[in-house]
This record gives sequence, C-alpha cells and structure tokens, in this order.
Amino acid sequence: MPNVNFSETPPVGMSATANWRVEYDDFLDDFINSVGNDTAMSELEDITGAVFRNKSKLLGQLVAGLIETKYSHLLDQDYCACKQCNKRLKSVGKRSRKLETRVGAFELNRPYFYCRDCHLGFFPLDEVLCLSDSPKQYDIQDIETFLSSEMPYETAKEAYERITGDELSTHHLHDTANAIGEQVGVLEVCPSKEEIEEKIDQLSQGRHRRPVMMLGIDGAYGPMRPLPRFPFRGCGVGSGRMGP
Ligand SMILES: [Zn+2]
Repeated sequence: MPNVNFSETPPVGMSATANWRVEYDDFLDDFINSVGNDTAMSELEDITGAVFRNKSKLLGQLVAGLIETKYSHLLDQDYCACKQCNKRLKSVGKRSRKLETRVGAFELNRPYFYCRDCHLGFFPLDEVLCLSDSPKQYDIQDIETFLSSEMPYETAKEAYERITGDELSTHHLHDTANAIGEQVGVLEVCPSKEEIEEKIDQLSQGRHRRPVMMLGIDGAYGPMRPLPRFPFRGCGVGSGRMGP
C-alpha cells in the first residue's frame, strides 16, 4: 500500500451497505431470465457462451460493488489533507474513469482533490486501490507480459481475447512488454549461478571435455564480448550484440 494520509477504514456509524447489491441483484435477475427464456439456448455451449459474452459486465459490476462496499467513505469523501503540505482540501468534484481488469470492466467515479499551493492533484481512492494510470490494470499487464514473452504479439493478442473475451491490441502488448523490459537488466533474466552449475553438471555427465555454454536472451541487447583495446587490422571491431 502507498503512503497515504487518510483513513482506509470507514468512520464509525457509516454503513458499508450500498444500493449496489439491489441493483446488482436486479441486473443478475434480468440476465438469468433472458438466458432462461431464450429457447434457442439448449446446449451447454449456448449457455456458457451467453455467460462468457457478459462476463466482463457481470464480474466488472461485482468488483465495482465490492469497492463501493469497502471504500464507500472514499467514494463520498468531501475533505482530504494535501499529500505534500497537509493543507485541508475540499473535493473539487468527482471524475469518472474506465477500469479494465482481467475479470471485467467498470466505471469508477471518485472524488478529485487539488492543492493550489502545491499544484498537486490526486485521487485518494486510486492510491488506496493501487491503480495503474493505464485503463488496463496491473493484473492485465501481468498477463500481457507473460504472453508476449512466450509468443508473437499477434498470437498473444488472440490468446488473451479467446481466454478473457476482452479486446487487447498488439500495440498495448508491445508497450507493456517494453515498459517492463526497460526495468529489467540482463543479469535479472539470466539463470542463477546454481541453475547454471546444475545445467553444466547435467551436460558434463559421461563426457571428458567441459561443455561450452551459450546464453540466448530473446529481445535483450547486450555486448557479446568486450570491445578490443586496439582494432585488429582487416577485422571488424568486436561489437557483436545479442539481438532479438
Ligand atoms: Zn499542498
């Protein structure tokens, strides 16, 4: 959790029960009735298909309702201390944003605070929830990173959409993988010393010569060998790089 200067616990006496349960029950009833009364839906795949097509809304609304239950005091927060100067601020109103998660999408309408002295604007609820600035939240970015490291972007996009039923662009896959890749050095993606020694032991069994080890890191750039101090005549400078 980030260091925030407001309570995450509802004040005593504030009810966490919200109207969302009634609305969600109605929404669920309508959905169940529509599937139940649809005579064309006879096989299992028809029913699972209907659930899958509505999964994002069914589960997204459920997540939104759970947030409302847990953080109703932050959704209706009128005052908050500035994160920098601690000045008491009044909310300048609510701002809505769309959040996409691996289970579903929903709108989050939460109070915005702005300190004129610090020129700092912030959403307390966003910080408590640890939201990403991107509409696609970190749980999606985690899947994007895994898929794009295992397969081409086009295949990763199709795999994600088939499994979740939600859209994902190759552009976003590429940007997410790059953003995370920029934080990772070559040593961090290399096997550990113990893993390398175990591999060498396996390859050495029954052989007299020591094995030659080569490490391939897809998508990473790094010098293969140090540059020679003096260029060799008639020979290119050893500037080979491991490439994608
Ligand atoms: Zn301030």
